[in-house]
Amino acid sequence: MIITEPTIDAGAATEASQRQLSLITPSGQLTVGNYIGALAQMRDAVGECYFGISDLHAMTMPHQPDRLRATILQTQRLMLAAGLDPERYALFKQSDVPEHTGLHYLLECVARVGELSRMIQFKDKGRDRPETRMSLLSYPVLMAADILLYRTDSVPVGDDQTQHVELARDLAQRFNRDYPGQDGPVFVVPRVVHPSVGIRLRNLQDPMIKMSKSDPNPAGVIYLLDPPEVIRRKIKRAVTDSTPGINYDPDHRPGLANLLELGAACGAGTIQDLIDDHDSFGSLKQTIAEAVITTLEPIRTRYAELSADAVREVFARGAERARAAASPTLAAARSAMGV
Ligand code: AMP
Repeated sequence: MIITEPTIDAGAATEASQRQLSLITPSGQLTVGNYIGALAQMRDAVGECYFGISDLHAMTMPHQPDRLRATILQTQRLMLAAGLDPERYALFKQSDVPEHTGLHYLLECVARVGELSRMIQFKDKGRDRPETRMSLLSYPVLMAADILLYRTDSVPVGDDQTQHVELARDLAQRFNRDYPGQDGPVFVVPRVVHPSVGIRLRNLQDPMIKMSKSDPNPAGVIYLLDPPEVIRRKIKRAVTDSTPGINYDPDHRPGLANLLELGAACGAGTIQDLIDDHDSFGSLKQTIAEAVITTLEPIRTRYAELSADAVREVFARGAERARAAASPTLAAARSAMGV
């Protein structure tokens, strides 16, 4: 989730005066897709940036505390290893900023059960199952709190997140109408923006689905900490097709197109360079594998150098900065509601 304030479109998100919020859910080891689609862009962002780990969103389904704890720490280390500068940005963990859960409850008091039970995740994974957690129904309200706390006015997200931002808009409008603050409306009503750029890397074994950190099968997923020989093997076994020759045709040759995009994103040249320089899948895959290894090697090296204590200290400082930005919004919301 990436949230930007104030901006006309996602492409304008690099201006220094803007406030951005971007959270990553620790639901598995980060992938090369997370690096290209999120971490590399966070690393290069300018302006007032709040980048965090949405750990509370990782508990809507049955989870193991030890595994979650380890995944949170690993995600924190990977954010630093990927080059996010803790002096420039507030790097924080959502559960360390109690304003998120504080506003969550206030927004639950304006949200309706009916609108939450129509949310896709709840319908797909929760409805009519006795073991369903309450949080699977209510987490979109927490996500609305994440967005509204930082008074961001546009939210660049993929299609799958549109429904969440629409709920945040509805809750902000309803709250502002029913509880007008003394100094004007408490919330900025955010707009959804679909970024025009950015690649969506696909699973190497099934190019019809996204490469995802929560995929139970690791064969089609390149993780940031995969050693070189594992990366070579996964790319060598990546699904292509039986058509001879190399060209870029995402509709008819999705596996090959995905590999070309991965190679280009990792600095192996442009897609056209890769097409011109290779006439077999074997040599193309070798070139792409070496480019991915070269891109990820510095991250693995820095990751190994970062101690857990140093990482926790950086995130504790970042949480203080995030709280300073979030607490005036929560205070205004409480005051408007009369508590
Ligand atoms: P997720 O892993 O779905 O929680 O997403 C975290 C961030 O990584 C979001 O900003 C996504 O847009 C980005 N991301 C996740 N998977 C990919 C992928 N396969 N390709 C590009 N970006 C991705």
